[in-house]
Amino acid sequence: MSSNFLNTPIEYLKSVGPQKAELLKKELRIFNYSNLLTYYPFRYVDRTKFYKVKEINADLPYVQLRGKISHTEMVGAKRAQRFVATFTDETGRLELVWFQGAKWISEKIKPHVTNEYIIFGKPSVFNGKFNIAHPEIELVSEENTTFASALQAIYNSTDKLKTRSLDTKGISRLQKTLVALIKNNIPETLSNTIKERYQLISREEAIRQIHFPQNPEMLKKAEFRLKFEELFFIQLKLLKQKGLREKMFRGFVFSKVGDYFNTFYNNYLPFELTNAQKRVIKEIRLDMGSGKQMNRLLQGDVGSGKTLVALMNMLIAMDNGFQACLMAPTEILANQHYETISELLKPLSINVGLLTGSKKTKERRAIHEQLQNGEMQILIGTHALLEDVVQFKNIGFVVIDEQHRFGVAQRAKMWNKNSQSPHVLIMSATPIPRTLAMTLYGDLDVSVIDELPPGRKPIQTIHRFDNHRDRVFGFMREQIALDRQIYIVYPLIKESEKMDYKDLMDGYESIVRAFPQPKYQVSIVHGQLKSDVKEYEMQRFVKHQTHIMVATTVIEVGVNVPNASVMVIESAERFGLSQLHQLRGRVGRGAEQSYCILMTSHKLSSDGKLRMETMCRTNDGFEIADVDLKLRGPGDMAGTMQSGVLDLNIADLAKDSQILHAARNIVIELLSEDPNLEKSENATIAYHYSMMVSNKTNWSRIS
Ligand code: ADP
Ligand code: MG
Repeated sequence: MSSNFLNTPIEYLKSVGPQKAELLKKELRIFNYSNLLTYYPFRYVDRTKFYKVKEINADLPYVQLRGKISHTEMVGAKRAQRFVATFTDETGRLELVWFQGAKWISEKIKPHVTNEYIIFGKPSVFNGKFNIAHPEIELVSEENTTFASALQAIYNSTDKLKTRSLDTKGISRLQKTLVALIKNNIPETLSNTIKERYQLISREEAIRQIHFPQNPEMLKKAEFRLKFEELFFIQLKLLKQKGLREKMFRGFVFSKVGDYFNTFYNNYLPFELTNAQKRVIKEIRLDMGSGKQMNRLLQGDVGSGKTLVALMNMLIAMDNGFQACLMAPTEILANQHYETISELLKPLSINVGLLTGSKKTKERRAIHEQLQNGEMQILIGTHALLEDVVQFKNIGFVVIDEQHRFGVAQRAKMWNKNSQSPHVLIMSATPIPRTLAMTLYGDLDVSVIDELPPGRKPIQTIHRFDNHRDRVFGFMREQIALDRQIYIVYPLIKESEKMDYKDLMDGYESIVRAFPQPKYQVSIVHGQLKSDVKEYEMQRFVKHQTHIMVATTVIEVGVNVPNASVMVIESAERFGLSQLHQLRGRVGRGAEQSYCILMTSHKLSSDGKLRMETMCRTNDGFEIADVDLKLRGPGDMAGTMQSGVLDLNIADLAKDSQILHAARNIVIELLSEDPNLEKSENATIAYHYSMMVSNKTNWSRIS
């Protein structure tokens, strides 16, 4: 056994050679034996099944048949010659066609009364009859049993590789050569205890079976083993990090609930807390009193009342003599939080400050000073909070709203604002499936608000095609007559894109034409406006001086105007599901029935259709997130972009949630019994973990 085997450069493999090796490196990043062995098939075709000619239909992606060749002929003029062979079994006949290599194949295949062939390929219809172009074909003979044995692995390849005959078959041949050599060369990575408990086959066997499965059962076992291992090591890494942090960073102990909290709770709470809010406030409070430094994710659908939860826990920080801050992803949102929070805290005479990029230098200086001498107890702001000049006297609690706009590096910056790291609460309104949360935020504790405040009427969502815009405008007029306000959102995916910008301005003009002054007032907000103009326009809408807010996705997160009851989304097909859900969350915040109208063109992709249907069917953010995950895969979901952890090689977070749960639980158990992985039975795990963190291996491809 040696890891040298796995590190053997790929050019050493028989039949690879320098040129193919170069291509394999460039195209598939296969540098060594390990990389090739972990280049897994993306699907399999069942080569144990034989069809009869009469069973063929156009829906079958591949068919395998056994029969004879009754006739062959070369057809067409010289330059466009094709070779046609008639294949027959007891149920009928079928044409096999070769456009390329016609001459060569015509010499290999001859009509014969007894010789039997096995053919394999994709059937298609031509002139009302089925044929197969370029089938795989092989003479059945005693010694020739390569076909018809089992599930055949199909690999992704590239155009360049195909020109070097490294298509799926070519890659499969390489795998065959290599798999023949692996005996006793693939070190185990998991402990016997874990293998027995989950009945996992050995790593070596799994690798053999994933490329050349004996039967469907063995394939399942191989897949399970490799997925389990992949998720196991990701969880191990996350949970070890978490454990390390808990050991290294002592947390401030917020031991008491004092006057600020109690006075607010007893006298000034604007409404009864939901049970979910109560539960979550307590979870956070206990965590901040435990002696370890809190790193917690607070998940709650749009409108579930996260702000209040954050605020109540800020009061606890202050009761224990600490400052708190809240960081929002946009200036609009920071302003809004500032207003809500200072309004709520007015009777308590707490000093709340606002720090954003547009603050004048003089104001900033004043804020900096008050933060350092401790006069300012709560600071609300944007990224501006992260600047090094912003120093606190004793910051104890940091809230980050809408995490997906902030990276991990920025989180770390907040931790370093004090000699001792403050408690950190990250609030996310992008409901993400549990599996993703466990992987993306696996090093965080999670609290979930799974209940909306009472009395909310579910938003009605309607899909309308562009040519019904007049009717939609009519509906908008009715709503305005009822004193409601309306958002109209245009896709401006990248603020720099001229086309989108033009769409927005055209849209704005047509709205102003359809809703003329002075009866109607229209605001507009987009990213190219100066922040004071943006703020002015926003405030006009907040104060109900305007009826319609034309905007881009800058209003996607957080904005709270309870009187707005209609959200119209233009070109809705261009938005992802989570974005649509976020936008919709801007309405339905008051007592009135609210509506979301999704406008699209008639040309909708099947994904687009599914997105509209999902939005119309449900308001449940977690359900939407699940559909989103299935549609887009984890890599494209909000917030996952910069995250390497999602670079999974075989596991699929949309499908493998059970394996993920099992892997996470076993890691938790393992670390509680053997936190440093010192026990001899865990030596293999410890070794592979150390390889992984020392970066010797790409850890999505553990070898
Ligand atoms: P989000 O979780 O999306 O950040 P917010 O904190 O903005 O939600 O709250 C949404 C709205 O619900 C706000 O207007 C807020 O005042 C209100 N709200 C919060 N908690 C409650 C509650 N327990 N009962 C009634 N309304 C509430
Ligand atoms: Mg919010």
